[in-house]
Amino acid sequence: MSFLKKLKSAFSAPSSSDKRILWLYVQCDKCDEVLRGRVDLYNDLSAQFNESTEGHFCRKVLIGSQRCYRPIEIELTFDKNRKLTDRKIKGGKFVTEADYFVEKSER
Ligand SMILES: [Zn+2]
Repeated sequence: MSFLKKLKSAFSAPSSSDKRILWLYVQCDKCDEVLRGRVDLYNDLSAQFNESTEGHFCRKVLIGSQRCYRPIEIELTFDKNRKLTDRKIKGGKFVTEADYFVEKSER
């Protein structure tokens, strides 16, 4: 087991609920803080219907706590099977899970 994986299992919720949780990892444009947000695929999505598509939508705002308090706005689009199909971000950029844990372990 790698170091990152161990770290991940220490932070994650029990595996029974893993499938319905989507973790978002974003980096603030202003202060470079890496933030993590949690989306519950069964509670946080709102249904979205129009003529051509049937799916779900979720809007999240993450605010850093370490350096600046600028909100990072995230918009996620899902298909009807709750699979992520599109994502937009304002005020930051998407990073990987590894970036998040690397930054935490450097502190
Ligand atoms: Zn910031």
